Amino acid sequence: MEFSSRVRQKHARLAGDRREQYPHSLQFYLEPPTESISLVEFESFAIDRLKLLKVIENLGVSYVRSTDSYKTKLENELRKLKFPYRALAEDDYEARRKDHISHFILRLAYCQSEDLRRWFLQQEMDLFRYRFNELTESLMQKFLEYVNLSFEAIGEDLKNELANELCASTPGFSLLKVKEQMFYKVGLADAVDLFRARRVFIKDGFAYVPFKEIDVIVLNNYRTKLSKALALTARSLPSIQSDERLQPLLSHLSHSYVGPDYSVQKNTGKISLEQIDALSVKSFPLCMRQLHRALRDSHHLRHGGRMQYGLFLKGIGLTLEQALEFWKKEFIRGKVDADKFDKGYAYSIRHNYGKEGKRTDYTPYSCMKIIMSNPPSQGDYHGCPFRHSDPELLKQKLQSYKIPPSGINQILELVKGMHYQLACQKYFELTHDVDDIGFSLNHPNQYFTESQKLLSGGRELKKEINNSGNFQQKNSQENINSSSTPTSSNATADTELEGLEAYFTED
Ligand code: SF4
Repeated sequence: MEFSSRVRQKHARLAGDRREQYPHSLQFYLEPPTESISLVEFESFAIDRLKLLKVIENLGVSYVRSTDSYKTKLENELRKLKFPYRALAEDDYEARRKDHISHFILRLAYCQSEDLRRWFLQQEMDLFRYRFNELTESLMQKFLEYVNLSFEAIGEDLKNELANELCASTPGFSLLKVKEQMFYKVGLADAVDLFRARRVFIKDGFAYVPFKEIDVIVLNNYRTKLSKALALTARSLPSIQSDERLQPLLSHLSHSYVGPDYSVQKNTGKISLEQIDALSVKSFPLCMRQLHRALRDSHHLRHGGRMQYGLFLKGIGLTLEQALEFWKKEFIRGKVDADKFDKGYAYSIRHNYGKEGKRTDYTPYSCMKIIMSNPPSQGDYHGCPFRHSDPELLKQKLQSYKIPPSGINQILELVKGMHYQLACQKYFELTHDVDDIGFSLNHPNQYFTESQKLLSGGRELKKEINNSGNFQQKNSQENINSSSTPTSSNATADTELEGLEAYFTED
């Protein structure tokens, strides 16, 4: 894939029509794209796929995958983001192309660590499973032939001969159903999952797999191919990391947040410092509640905590003057005197508000940024408690917040499956006494806003935060258009924050 930053038109396609590359709506993504694409298209495709995979993660936890609700919601999302959603559609070339290219971009971004690879693999597998099962029988056959996975269906004679064994070894099958269904003779290596789960009849080194289970074989095959490909892609990281156009984009994507930006200051000055203690209990996500408690208890937070919490407070509406007063009052109750605060700590607070240094108006951290970067060490309180706390400590914390035992178990299960944001959603549901959170959580400030909406009976207590657009994406596109070395806005902001960290490292 080649990239061009000389973009004249939004989403302009640089290459010609390559329809013949995509004979099926479904792919194993064996060949990377070879066409030139603009950086704008590169980023917009990647962000859309990321949105899609996030929805898939969410649906996978909230619904049984084979249910109509799961399928309908996923189909809606595919339609909305313009990815292929109907296997039969002949005229979805653009969607197939986007599907192909976006998969490979995220593959680059998500090969960078074991955690990222595992997450990406899981969501891509779920997407593939849904699409494969939506194919008609004949399209399935065609697709399997195309990817060299066609299996031999056994003849009626052999099926009648083995009918009793097939019936006994295939759960949920009666003799009648055996008669009706097609069975395939598959090499044992391809049917390991079914064999392990004792769901197939085995004879002479072959598994006899009913048609309805063929997806397990195909998925197994896809998983093997994709995990190998991710490992191979990871090996080529050094060359990617040396590309100054790509590296910031890819690193931004793997920490990416795809929702609204919460730095917009429409709600500035709408809360008072006296409200913060109560709000921290009612409306702060666990990460911020933990930081607030630590600040009140020790009258100090180390650098990572001040950045994470300070920007969050800015996002919920604290003015610069309020922030200075808030932090100063707390710090001088500890070991920092007023003079030291004014000379050192006040600078970084003004910096966060864009009043010092490069005068960048910094955005509050998204969940992905908190989860994926700068893990807390001893004495730190920043990070995401669902990701960074020991499960036993997390359990104790949840118990102390009066979360019922069944809820704690659900949260710990989600944490075990590495669904940290979903664990946080569950925490929201339990602390707000709602059955369904009704939104996909991606940002601590989103948590706060939604909590306030709910507690005020649908109307926000505070003036509305501007949720209208994807500021981060928009801004990064502007950067791309205006610069010969394009980076996303957040990547730029991240670099600047890192600069700030180096400048101001006092703990
Ligand atoms: Fe905070 Fe996000 Fe973690 Fe929730 S999931 S605790 S909002 S970082």
